Amino acid sequence: MSLCEQCARLQKTCCERSDVEVALTEGDISRIRRFCRTDDFYHRLRVPEELVATYENPEHHDAAVAVYVAGLFDEQGRRPILRKQDNGFCLFVADTGCVLPREVRPLVCRLYPYDWNDQHKLWIQAPYCPRELYADETDLVLQIGDSQEVALKLVEQLYEELARKGEQP
Ligand code: SF4
Ligand code: SF4
Repeated sequence: MSLCEQCARLQKTCCERSDVEVALTEGDISRIRRFCRTDDFYHRLRVPEELVATYENPEHHDAAVAVYVAGLFDEQGRRPILRKQDNGFCLFVADTGCVLPREVRPLVCRLYPYDWNDQHKLWIQAPYCPRELYADETDLVLQIGDSQEVALKLVEQLYEELARKGEQP
């Protein structure tokens, strides 16, 4: 049984958590639109009121991800995110996991369990994975992630797509 299947027996998975928002690039939107043949899977939402000041004022951004934040948000302070089901689960999660083929999934989903910054530095940040199910970060990546090399290419793609914000891919 895969780590994610074991996880699903223990707890809500990362895809089922109502507090997880999946932010999309225009490239993500284009790939998912082609796969689903609809636009109903996402909306452009402002961040919660308590975070508006942070996102509207560049000097408040975490300097390490200022480029990422600037690329994600539009002039109205909104960013595209995946819609959720009524139960708070991601729209695309089913009993068997994500229904999207891996190459169609949002880049941030494909990058998990890596986190990154504007300098394209990568590290493991897996707050939702049950710690008792993997030995260490190497084991976690072996079980659910891509190699550093592949993840780095995804980060480069992420920033390229954010830089093309406003263009129709
Ligand atoms: S798109 Fe797929 S991988 Fe990403 S949160 Fe939704 S179900 Fe999970
Ligand atoms: S990626 Fe982590 S949190 Fe998400 S389903 Fe797999 S083990 Fe669970």
